[in-house]
Amino acid sequence: MDMSSLVSGGAFQPHGYCLAWDPFLVGADVIASALIALAYFSIPLTLTVFVRRNPTLHFNGLFAMFSLFIFACGAGHVVDIFSLWIPVYRLELSVKAITAAASVATALTMWPLLPKATALLREYHDTAASLRRVNAELQASHDALIESNERFRLTLQNAPIGFAHVALDGSFLSVNSSLCEMLGYAEGQLLMKTFQDITHPDDLDQDLAYVAQLLGGERISYRMQKRYFHRFGHIVYIQLDVSLVRSADGRPLHFISQIQDITRRIEQERALEQRALTDDLTGLPNRRAFLDAAARLIAQAGRGGSVGLLMIDLDHFKDINDTRGHASGDQVLRAMKDIVGPMLRASDLFARLGGEEFAVLLPNSSMLHAREVAERLRRTIETAGLRSADGRAVPLTASFGVTASEGKESIEAIFERADRAMYGAKRAGRNCVVVEAAGDTPATSIA
Ligand code: GH3
Ligand code: MG
Ligand code: MG
Repeated sequence: MDMSSLVSGGAFQPHGYCLAWDPFLVGADVIASALIALAYFSIPLTLTVFVRRNPTLHFNGLFAMFSLFIFACGAGHVVDIFSLWIPVYRLELSVKAITAAASVATALTMWPLLPKATALLREYHDTAASLRRVNAELQASHDALIESNERFRLTLQNAPIGFAHVALDGSFLSVNSSLCEMLGYAEGQLLMKTFQDITHPDDLDQDLAYVAQLLGGERISYRMQKRYFHRFGHIVYIQLDVSLVRSADGRPLHFISQIQDITRRIEQERALEQRALTDDLTGLPNRRAFLDAAARLIAQAGRGGSVGLLMIDLDHFKDINDTRGHASGDQVLRAMKDIVGPMLRASDLFARLGGEEFAVLLPNSSMLHAREVAERLRRTIETAGLRSADGRAVPLTASFGVTASEGKESIEAIFERADRAMYGAKRAGRNCVVVEAAGDTPATSIA
């Protein structure tokens, strides 16, 4: 049955508007209404999915109302299709009434929400703006951090003193050029070493003890002077400052070390110390050096050991000065080093105490040995055969006071005894050796 016969006199009686029962118009109306209805139905469906997927969405009541309104609109169009042939006026009216009620309800719900929606929008804009601002600030501080990191890195790299980051196991994590230069290594070579590798073994225990204190939280930094080995093997004296970097939760991360080369300073100090302990005229140790060494050796000898001490005073030295001149006197004093020095053991200590007075300390020596040495020296001085600049012979003799330490005696007590013995030798006529043992009186002359 074709459409025109169906609509002109068939089963369906026309009623209401009939679009002149032009099959094309009727068909177009049906298709258009069906499409519109479908489109309407898709909107609440989409809104439902949208609301479900966004649980934090505001105004869900409004969405429901609007969906009902749109659904009713769609239903109206479906009813329109049926009402072409079937007089469903009541249904059409009902749907219209529902549509009207839903539209009014939607409008009424919407109005009071408008200020809220506006506020929400403003809030959204404000939030977006402040997010942009925060973002810009973060970017700026990130840039500043990178710049300051770079500045810090360059500062460390070009600092005139050595800097290193050291891992907890002692390996170098980063080193600056001053440290590389100080130790003679290329950066890559030094990064393959630990501080233990280049530290003098005698300084390592102290350093490791400090490291343990840092890790144990007993101190936050330490400073020490120690020795590194240069790549070529010689010693570099350094002043080391170390601190420990910890994470926010207190976990030790790595050490920061500052290293200053103090080799020159140490050498200068040593040279000054050496000068302070040396007699300028003869180059021999002076009184201070002699007393220090003597005290040390006597302490080392302890109770069982014995140390021999010889006091030597040149005889009538004033006469040499008076008759040959002061320079000749100096020459004689200098000559003493060459006369006496070769007669002694390497462990013996020969010093000029002052003026024309000398002393010899003989470690591990009995009184007997000390007396023998003194006698040998006396004869060597006597027969030295010195001559002054004008070629004339300079007669030279010396008086010897000899003693040996007994048990734990003080250096002063031993010195006093040797001095007394030496004056005894002067009294005995000079050019002789007088010994005085602990507890002896009077001193005994043997030459
Ligand atoms: P004695 O036998 O009693 O020891 O007589 P002496 O002349 O050796 O002793 P005295 O203490 O009378 O004189 C020591 C002299 O040593 C006096 C001083 O001018 C001289 N003298 C001290 N120091 C130096 C010095 O550095 N160079 C020279 N040339 N003479 C010095
Ligand atoms: Mg004298
Ligand atoms: Mg003298």
